[in-house]
Amino acid sequence: MAQDVRVHPRDKRSQRFVEKPRATSAEIDVGAPTNYEALQQKADELWQQWEAGQWDDPGRAELTEALTVAQKTADDAWRPTGPDGQPIHGAHYDPATRTVTMGRKNCGNCREGTVPSQATCPACHGTGNGPKGGARGCQACGGLGWTWDPQRRETCPQCGGHWEDAEASSLYDHVPRQMAAQIAADMPVRVIRQDRDASWNEQFMGANRLWTAADYGAHWSQPDKDDALIADVREGLAAPFTLQWVKLVEPPGRPHAKTASLVPGLAVVVTRGGYSVMPDDPAQVERATRELGRVEAEVIGGRIAADGGDGTGFVANYPRN
Ligand SMILES: [Zn+2]
Ligand SMILES: [Zn+2]
Repeated sequence: MAQDVRVHPRDKRSQRFVEKPRATSAEIDVGAPTNYEALQQKADELWQQWEAGQWDDPGRAELTEALTVAQKTADDAWRPTGPDGQPIHGAHYDPATRTVTMGRKNCGNCREGTVPSQATCPACHGTGNGPKGGARGCQACGGLGWTWDPQRRETCPQCGGHWEDAEASSLYDHVPRQMAAQIAADMPVRVIRQDRDASWNEQFMGANRLWTAADYGAHWSQPDKDDALIADVREGLAAPFTLQWVKLVEPPGRPHAKTASLVPGLAVVVTRGGYSVMPDDPAQVERATRELGRVEAEVIGGRIAADGGDGTGFVANYPRN
């Protein structure tokens, strides 16, 4: 289902955006529309092209849109069932195999199938101009000419009102509370001490780690309290809405993977400045904690910013070696 983009006719910037030709699911010819594997393969091919390309390639924007549509079409076809034969809502975690299978989730665009409608701005009557006539100067609508009308709700353009289980879940979703508690209890966690200050990556970028805490030496000065630190880390893992699946699993190889295995364990790297929690793997620890060269820092920092700003995408999209 191609996404319907709502714009007010006076919002010229948005209008330019929707007037661009968009690939539709009909143009992605992969046979049966419910064949998830074929659809995902097509999306993967586009993803590889996208990865191999340069930002200023001609056709980059079209490729990006085709990839978005291909991935959405594949996601629409993702309808997994759990071991009980029931459709998976959210995610299914199997503690025996330490694997997770993503399911479906409710529409993220609406509240039970409806969204506030748009109304002509009463202050500027739709012109977007300020009281003295300045272009885009209306403060009530920010110059757009329209405002949201929460009193009059309309059908959600994204799910068409069928909001329940409307979207495929992803590894970027948060681990549900019950599963987080179980994983926090079962996950092997060990402390590694490194006699150094916190790295630039640990302080500012966060590539390859779950979280960093600055403690100005508190844990460094108490090497006999590792058990308490591990207990704190477990508590952090179990806290609701703090942890995304993607930070806990082996790199899935593609950004929209629907199944993944949990990492074998977590390392808590304690330095003179604080501690960082990361997958317990020597290459991972080395990469997460070392100082980067200037060029490397710029490239990786740019990718992290593009992927959402907190290092999550870096963990998801790059092989850990
Ligand atoms: Zn206005
Ligand atoms: Zn919706």
